Amino acid sequence: MKNPEQARLFALQQLNILDTSPSESFDRITRMASQLFGLPISAVSLTDADRQWFKSRVGVDHCEIPREKAPCADVSTSSQVVIINDMLASSCYRESHLANSGIRFYAGAPLTTREGYTLGAMCVLGTEPREVTEQEKVTLVDLAAMVMSQIELQHAFGRVDSLTGLANRGQFDEGLQDLTLDAPGEQRVALFTEVVEASELSILHRTMGPAFLDELARVSAQCLQEAIGSESKLYHLGSGQFVHLVSADSDERLIEHALRLREDLMALESAREVPVLVRPVVGIATFRLGEMTVSDILRSAHAASLDARHMGEGAGLFSTELDDSFQRRIMLLSDVSRALESDDEFYLVFQPRVSVKTGVCQGAEALLRWRHPVLGEVSPAEFIPLIENTPMARSLTAWVVHRAIRQAALWHRQGRKLRISINVSATNLEEADFAQRVLAELREANLPTDAIELEVTESALIGKGQAAVSQLDILTEAGILIAIDDFGTGYSSLSYLHELPANIVKIDRGFITHLGEDARTRTLVASMIGMAHDLGYSVVAEGVESEAALAYLGQLGCNEVQGYLFAKPLLPDTFETWLGSKGAARVG
Ligand code: C2E
Ligand code: CA
Ligand code: CA
Repeated sequence: MKNPEQARLFALQQLNILDTSPSESFDRITRMASQLFGLPISAVSLTDADRQWFKSRVGVDHCEIPREKAPCADVSTSSQVVIINDMLASSCYRESHLANSGIRFYAGAPLTTREGYTLGAMCVLGTEPREVTEQEKVTLVDLAAMVMSQIELQHAFGRVDSLTGLANRGQFDEGLQDLTLDAPGEQRVALFTEVVEASELSILHRTMGPAFLDELARVSAQCLQEAIGSESKLYHLGSGQFVHLVSADSDERLIEHALRLREDLMALESAREVPVLVRPVVGIATFRLGEMTVSDILRSAHAASLDARHMGEGAGLFSTELDDSFQRRIMLLSDVSRALESDDEFYLVFQPRVSVKTGVCQGAEALLRWRHPVLGEVSPAEFIPLIENTPMARSLTAWVVHRAIRQAALWHRQGRKLRISINVSATNLEEADFAQRVLAELREANLPTDAIELEVTESALIGKGQAAVSQLDILTEAGILIAIDDFGTGYSSLSYLHELPANIVKIDRGFITHLGEDARTRTLVASMIGMAHDLGYSVVAEGVESEAALAYLGQLGCNEVQGYLFAKPLLPDTFETWLGSKGAARVG
């Protein structure tokens, strides 16, 4: 716990008023005081660690005196009006600095902040002994209140965060500009401290109330300021986020410094100053003055803190790689809607599925491709997982379903008997109208339901509950086949999956690609196929790349295969050419 004098000094420092230039708004009040009391001397006197410093003064030349034996210091300590009718008659002040310089009379009223810290005194002094009336006392207290209003007004005026008393974001901008003028090109390091995770703030707001968060910010500010010392200035950006600058140093030393700050903040909790779990993190970003905008500096340091939190570390250095991948993810996510509208970025390719027994191509899997205008070709393995749990999954799948059915209808009209399988995300099955929309698309394209198949991953089916099952029920009842995709990669048991309305199991390519080489995998695949058949599923193996794998799958009675051995996913016209040459699809 801070002692009261330390807390008082901290409050005074945070006002950034010590050693500032004289100001007419204060001088006006001191002149008035001197006139009202008919005394030659009056001052706004602030009690620093070892001096009384005068923000405003009438009738004195110097701007500070020692704190020792100064009556203003007593006003600060007692927070009371102090009257000394005759200094020479007072055992306490007879030998004081003021008495020695000829002062006999003193009256001072406390300058007290709203939080209850007394910063110093509004005082009047005379060279003769004097009495004070009750009315005069009231006047002096009023004058002190006017001084305090002035201090608080100046303090609040856009420069300082009123909650913590620290400089704010605007001041950080200004501070950096000044530094850049002084030392352009020099390296500096920004440390971004976040006391509570952003997502937890709203929970704390709800459970503990806004006053608690204010107090948390104040206590953290005090703690951090003490930990970083007086050389470095601390800025409060809001929401318990702070930033300060240090000189360039080795990565290890910076991390060490950051972790120390973090420990100090965590100690608040054990000192019971904070009744909740604080999980501070510190992000570190090194930059050259003048070579990065303030906004980029803050963004990088903040990103470093988020990455650190994400990885369960207390502190972390800004990493361009992590940031680039984050930026890329954001770019992809924010570009999906536009790409869906532009219509020349997303397109479908089709990978043939071949019957093991006859070698005839019976269908194809529709696979999504994205030709991004800036990033080029982006794999669905990268962007599907990003989108899958957002509302965009709905429109993206709707796009795929629409396009795949249109292509299937075209081939159907050409007399090609192909079943086109379409990948569906877990979230799609939670859309109450999903099955109905698929069926509507089929009707519109005049396509029989057995001309398409839907692929759903095992994990998509687990835990989605009744909503997903009822969508699948509607689809299977209408005659659409359902395949369980990536089979074998989840933890689910076949007996559980068996309760779901599905007809086909697609064994994940992880098991198939190296089938020729590994005996254990062969045993595994053999038992998967055996079990699936026993339960009445048709089995498809994907990722077939070698004749050896194909031969083995043939022995095991696998029904269909798909993989680079036959063809990569192909554009529709290439697919048609492929069909003509190798696919031997029955036509007509
Ligand atoms: P998936 O559904 O398991 O698709 C099979 C993936 O294996 C495809 O990757 C395909 O190109 C690849 N592949 C096929 N044969 C071979 C082979 O012999 N060897 C190897 N190494 N790979 C082979 P792709 O096209 O990159 O798709 C990746 C994943 O993205 C898909 O895995 C699927 O989960 C997802 N995806 C693709 N299109 C869609 C879509 O329209 N909707 C949804 N929801 N997901 C899609
Ligand atoms: Ca698939
Ligand atoms: Ca798969």
